[in-house]
Order: sequence, then structure tokens, then C-alpha cells
Amino acid sequence: MTGRAPVYGQLLRWLLHWVLAVLCVGLAATGAWAQTGWRVAQFNLELEPRFDTKSIHGTLRMDFSVQQASLSQLSLDAGALQIEAVELAGRTLPFEKTGSQLRIQLPAALKAGTPQQLQVRYTGAGSAGLRFDPDSPQVATAFSTSQWMPCLDDPAVRAPFHLSLVLPPELVSVGNGSPKATQARADGKRSHRWHLDQPMPSYLYGFAAGLFARAQAMAGKTRLEYFGPASQFTPAQLQQVFADSADMHAFFEQRSGVPYPLPAYRQVLLAGPAAQEMAGYSVMGVRYGKRVLDKRAAIWLGAHEFAHQWWGNGITNRSWQHFWLNEGIATFMTAAYLEHRFGVETYADNIEAARAKYLAIQAAGHDRSLVFPDWDNPSATDRSLVYDKGSLVLHELRNLLGDATFWKAFKHYTRKHWGQSVETADFKKAMEEGSGVDLTAFFKQWVEAR
Ligand SMILES: [Zn+2]
Repeated sequence: MTGRAPVYGQLLRWLLHWVLAVLCVGLAATGAWAQTGWRVAQFNLELEPRFDTKSIHGTLRMDFSVQQASLSQLSLDAGALQIEAVELAGRTLPFEKTGSQLRIQLPAALKAGTPQQLQVRYTGAGSAGLRFDPDSPQVATAFSTSQWMPCLDDPAVRAPFHLSLVLPPELVSVGNGSPKATQARADGKRSHRWHLDQPMPSYLYGFAAGLFARAQAMAGKTRLEYFGPASQFTPAQLQQVFADSADMHAFFEQRSGVPYPLPAYRQVLLAGPAAQEMAGYSVMGVRYGKRVLDKRAAIWLGAHEFAHQWWGNGITNRSWQHFWLNEGIATFMTAAYLEHRFGVETYADNIEAARAKYLAIQAAGHDRSLVFPDWDNPSATDRSLVYDKGSLVLHELRNLLGDATFWKAFKHYTRKHWGQSVETADFKKAMEEGSGVDLTAFFKQWVEAR
């Protein structure tokens, strides 16, 4: 008996190992499937923005598969889009649009796990998600992807995105990922194709098109490309506006321990207000460009949007309740970049400005946990908490751990969760692993419920 005990023990451990492994894989799969019962493999979009009517005409071809043959419907976020027809393999499918939800009835017994392609034809108007400026002319997406293509707003769902954008022949376009050769069409317009093959959340999909001047530079292996209205910027001025981009690229790569993931990063100055990160590019208003030409140090926004390529895009909040992991960290990393570029006083100014805003919120009795119960209708105070208190928390953590340990742990967090969607608990755990310090009390004080 005694001789056999170790064998049984080994067998038990082996069994336990496999039961746990199967459970973990099962849970991970359920996590992804549970949201919808199906999985998107890729979004392929053909979109024609029409300047005369400020409208869009689109055909989405979505590659997907169902988890179970019994799945009878799937839902997409489709904003205020007018859905004209839905087809699967040439067969028309019934659908229903309730509010912003598009519910599609699937044919009986779709084979589980088999690739399918759903086609959705739709039209839409220039809206919160899409801004037309016929005078420039310019058209650009802004914030709400489901206002210009049916998709999944959930930041935890990642998929590749291929775009074919039909534009008047004189326009220059910027999209996600890599540009393919443009194609002439019989109607005189041109089709601009952009392929993003890295899976990304759909809120990071977008495009901008206009009469842009352009310039470029290299940052290591990454090509930097700069765009702005040709009526307002020369290529030489664009070089000046974005003169610090290569340095930002090097700084964020160094602090993250993760190389910039795409062949190119593009920065676009748009007529009208703009400040947003997208997969592989970012947009800012022409006023940003003018400000930087006027004052070399006014590069806060450029650094902030660039930081998002790592914190926000590379690592994404799993739900908007953890939005501070996108914005608080990007805001802190902006201050950290400005410290590197202009010295510790600039960093201190940024942090103290954030602290002053936070203390005012606290004094007014509006302080709350950085993890929100929901992010459906955030107030200006909620936004300030996410950006300002969020960045302040990172600064306090840096103070607590000391520079060397903080940056080591921060690098561990970034590398560990690269390409993933995360929650606050993942951030806490990674910072603890990287620093060897129990941060329970710190997170209780700064991050959790007030
Ligand atoms: Zn941001």
C-alpha cells in the first residue's frame, strides 16, 4: 500500500491539473461566448460617404460563427442606421431594429463553429459618429462606430477590420492598419482600402478623408505619417507640428516594454474640433497644430493620443466601468512623457492640476470609486474623476513604490496584458506581482468605493 501511495498521489495531481486546465479553458470560452452566443471573426465594410446629402451608404460583410446550432438570433449595435437588407449566403434574413439594436433572425441549424458571412446593407446620416465638412471638403468618424457601421460596441470584443472607402478622386484618406492600392471606379470615384489585421475593439475603427497635405518620418521601424488640410499646413509645417512624435514613440516603447505593434502611426489634423485615438492613428483639431507651431511645448494632446496606442488600444478596459484604466493611465503617461521631454516641473504642474480638480470634486462631496457601476450617462465630474483622479492614482502609486519599482511593475502590467481587455483587479494584481508589494490598502484608499 505505502509503495503505491506516491503513484496515486501523482495520478491525483495529474487529474487535478487536467480538470483545472479544462475548467479554465471552458471558463475563458464561456466568457467570450456568453455575451452573444456567437463570435465575430472579421468586419469587412464598403462605405460611401456622400457629401451632397451628408449621408452614408454601406455594406457590411461580417465573418462569424455560432457557438451552438440552436442559436436563433444575433444582435448588433447599429445606432440610428437605416437597415435595408440582411442576407446570409444569398438568402434574405428577417431582422428587427429596436432603438440602436439590430436583431437578426438566423436560419435554423447553422453549423456550430463553421465560418459564415452575414451581409448587411444600410444607409445613415451624418451624426455624432460621423462628421461631414463639405466646405473643406472633409469627412471623419468620431467616437461612435455603431453610428456608421453595425458592430459591437463592447470594448471586450476584438476583431480585424477591412475597410473599402468610396471617395471623390481628389481626397486623401487615413484609416486603420495598412493602406492597399486605391482602385478607380466606373463612376469616377476611387475606392480606398485599409486593412487592420490585428484584432481591435470596434470603437477604435475609423477613417478621415480630406484635401490633406502630408509628411512623414521614421521612428525605428515605424513609419510616422502626418496629415492636415493643405489649405492650412505645408508639409514642412506638419513636420514641425509633429517633430516630437519619434521621441514619444521611443519613450512609450521604453516604458511599456512593448514595441509599437503596427508598421505605421498616423496623426491627422482635422478642420473642427477633434481629439481621439484610433487603431494605428489619431485625430486632432487644426487648432492643435496651430498651437504647437506657436508654442513648442503645447504637445499634451499629441502625447496623450499617442500613449493610447499602448494603454487603451494595446490594453483595453474590459467594460467602460473600468474606463480609468484607459484614460487615467494615458493621462498619467502624458505627464510622464512631458517630464521626460521638458523636465520634472512640467510633470509636477500636470499632476498638481489633476490634484486640484480632484480636491474640488472631493470638497463638493462628489468623490467616488474609480470603478463605476455603469458608464451609461457620465457627468463632467465622472469624466474628470476618470482622467484626473485616475492619473493622480498612478502618480501616488509611483510615489509609494519609488521610481525603479513602479516602472518595473508598470512594464510588467503592460507586457502581461498586451492584446487583452482588463479590469481594475488585473491592474492591481499585475502591479503587485511586478513590485512585490501588497497594494490592497492603496487600492482601498484610492480606487475602491468611497
Ligand atoms: Zn484619452
